[in-house]
Amino acid sequence: MRVVHSPHEIYSQLTHERSTGRSVGLVPTMGALHAGHLSLVEQAKRDCDIAVATIFVNPTQFGPHEDFSKYPRTLDCDLELLRKINCDYVFVPSSEQIYAPGHSTFIDPPAVSRLWEGEIRPGHFRGVATIVFKLFMMAPAHVAFFGRKDYQQVAVIRTMVEELNLPIRIEICDTIREADGLAMSSRNRYLSTTERTRALGLWRALQHARELVEQNVVDVAKIEAAMAEILHTAPIDAIDYARIVDALTLEPLEQIDDVAVAIIAARLGTTRLIDNLTLSRR
Ligand code: AMP
Repeated sequence: MRVVHSPHEIYSQLTHERSTGRSVGLVPTMGALHAGHLSLVEQAKRDCDIAVATIFVNPTQFGPHEDFSKYPRTLDCDLELLRKINCDYVFVPSSEQIYAPGHSTFIDPPAVSRLWEGEIRPGHFRGVATIVFKLFMMAPAHVAFFGRKDYQQVAVIRTMVEELNLPIRIEICDTIREADGLAMSSRNRYLSTTERTRALGLWRALQHARELVEQNVVDVAKIEAAMAEILHTAPIDAIDYARIVDALTLEPLEQIDDVAVAIIAARLGTTRLIDNLTLSRR
């Protein structure tokens, strides 16, 4: 496994790999790796000849009062985990290499970025779109792998790739969960023991939404009320949203006709968690 710090070097290494006919799969991450991240690298290894992970805690996607400075940084441990699963390259740029002093060029993200996370975290998807675009340029891959766990992020990136005609395919991988259902997240380590127990409310609410749809309940207001009740009972400290939305546009729905997604963002103490589950009538 090669650990590369320089954008110039990763570009020339991957360009060389491609010139010998090898396919390249890219997995962008912010580190603090868990089994969810590793599942993306494993998928990249299955689908491509070369798997490349990137580790960069991207400052531009954090709001001024968010957890950028305390975001977990566990590089040695991350590299060990990636080595164990035979990741081929890890790109670990420094902040100065990505955002030189005075940096002022950003990607204006697509319309789907304005809802939900975009409303609550202004500027977040501008930062995400910018770093993902830059990584695609620096680490030229055939395929990039993202987790469904960040459902709106996937929608933003897919739309960006399509609308900017970027020559890369986006693959979406399933959410990896703890044994009790909590979606794995680098932020789970912030949770106290009691918060960790209460956090299960998110998964319970999502599962209940799915059960209701399976019982042919299609009235979104009813399902959302049931989700809110479970979250309040957990109890979750603050619900940013717990909604049923269109699977493609992420616009709110009144009724589930075919496929929809239940999306939740909620806070436990100072930790903010997001999760989602696809609801299908078929
Ligand atoms: P992050 O390091 O949080 O920016 O996440 C890097 C990538 O890992 C993103 O594509 C995430 O959607 C994905 N990811 C995060 N958590 C999970 C999970 N529990 N299961 C699958 N993918 C995940």
